[in-house]
Amino acid sequence: MNQAHELASIEVEEFISLRRDIHQHPELAFEEYRTATLVAQKLKSWGYEVHEGIGGTGVVGVLKNGNGEMSIGLRADMDALPIHEQTGAEWSSCNHGVMHACGHDGHTAMLLAAAKELAAKKDFSGTVNLIFQPAEEGGGGALRMMADGLFERFSCDSIFAIHNMPGYPVGHLIFRDGPAMSSSDYVTIEINGVGGHGGMPHKASDPIVAASSIVMALQTIVSRNVDPQQSAVITVGAFNAGHANNVIPAHAKLELSIRALDPQVRIDIEARIKSLVHAQAESFGLTANIIWKKGYAVLVNSSAETEFARNVAVDFFGEAAVTRQGPALSGSEDFAFMLEKIPGSYLFIGNGDTPGTCMVHNPAYDFNDGNIAIGATFWSELVKQYLKT
Ligand SMILES: [Zn+2]
Ligand SMILES: [Zn+2]
Repeated sequence: MNQAHELASIEVEEFISLRRDIHQHPELAFEEYRTATLVAQKLKSWGYEVHEGIGGTGVVGVLKNGNGEMSIGLRADMDALPIHEQTGAEWSSCNHGVMHACGHDGHTAMLLAAAKELAAKKDFSGTVNLIFQPAEEGGGGALRMMADGLFERFSCDSIFAIHNMPGYPVGHLIFRDGPAMSSSDYVTIEINGVGGHGGMPHKASDPIVAASSIVMALQTIVSRNVDPQQSAVITVGAFNAGHANNVIPAHAKLELSIRALDPQVRIDIEARIKSLVHAQAESFGLTANIIWKKGYAVLVNSSAETEFARNVAVDFFGEAAVTRQGPALSGSEDFAFMLEKIPGSYLFIGNGDTPGTCMVHNPAYDFNDGNIAIGATFWSELVKQYLKT
């Protein structure tokens, strides 16, 4: 850390206890009632204007100060995962089969710690919107909050979010300009043939052979159609057909997961899969139905806001504590939808890099409480610089 600066006057013990309390009471997507109530109570006690029930269990805390016209949005996610906890920690989950295995308990605690600091110091001029979001883990809580008028009701000039990342030292801040996390789409392909006797294939139209050919042809899309400088994934995760050795079934079903790091690559892959699947099925005299379910969008950090946040981090914590341009990840994140509307940046904070450090979504994972003071200090410093008095 830069010797010229000290961490904000966060009462760390209070927020470590709070984090562990949230950890002990994890709640799944759109069921974050206890967590949301806790967040709302804290914000109210510090003088925030609090709006509850946005997009289900979402909470927004608004704090205005001075005459500044600029506004900033900071987002934390609150939901847990359907995982049986195996950390052995004193603050282990009380809700059987539900666990904070992605550190959203920590994200919530870091933002609350910053909320208290901002309300106490009031060293900014403008509007701070603290967005506590439900259902990040696949539920699309960001979209639900937006459908509930999030940005119409709480105007934000820019938005930011932090996620912890195991594999980097505790408190290390990792930025990335441009595409940072993949889109994620779910595709079902149904191949419709004509069933028949296994000994008389010429009297049937075999969907297994056609579907096998489709699986192989799909492998050519990333290798032959996607620009080698880009990245994408097409995984066939399920192939279901038939039930007996002497029966040709009438149908086969494939389930695919599609990821891309560029919005145009995502569009191109969709067009290519549709054309390839129909052409392949037709070449075998069969038909195909494709059910395309769009998941999260590509998360794209805007340049100016990423640069701004990165400079705040480097000025405050020093160059060694910051990765200016980290790698893109093939995970996905619904903050991407917010970034499609409002410029901003999604960054990571290291969760520890010692041997045995667990990745998120592992039953032995736990958020590192050493991040609370650093994350909250970064949040309050970002607000102070963005809404300069
Ligand atoms: Zn997660
Ligand atoms: Zn997460």
